[in-house]
Amino acid sequence: MKTHSFDCEFIDEFPPVLVERMLYVSTLYASALHLCACGCGIKVVTPLSPDNWSIIFNGVSISLTPSIGNWSFPCQSHYWIRRGDVIWSDRWSDQKIEANREADHARRERHSTAAYQTAPTVSTPRKRFALWFRKLRP
Ligand SMILES: [Zn+2]
Repeated sequence: MKTHSFDCEFIDEFPPVLVERMLYVSTLYASALHLCACGCGIKVVTPLSPDNWSIIFNGVSISLTPSIGNWSFPCQSHYWIRRGDVIWSDRWSDQKIEANREADHARRERHSTAAYQTAPTVSTPRKRFALWFRKLRP
């Protein structure tokens, strides 16, 4: 079933079983996690960093930016989470997905040699996330 809105929960460790319509945020792992809003049941991980996603918490609900494009999933769903509400977006063409991937990659390459490797406060959650992520997808 499609999800129309997400509640949010701030946690340290992600639970092994996710509840639908819940957006989990872990500052420990600098990541957010939710079940795909299309209802396909796939876990969507959104790393929080200057090069990935950002959250805005207004005291009640969360906005996640940029949009979530699940291009590698069979559903290929694309949506925004704004103040907890799911706003469906258009499906991208293969060319647009590929161009976006290349732009993301180039942006991360530029930053990977600078801030991340010198700032332990940033790299520590990233390392914790990498360890956790490996456990999630054996
Ligand atoms: Zn889906």
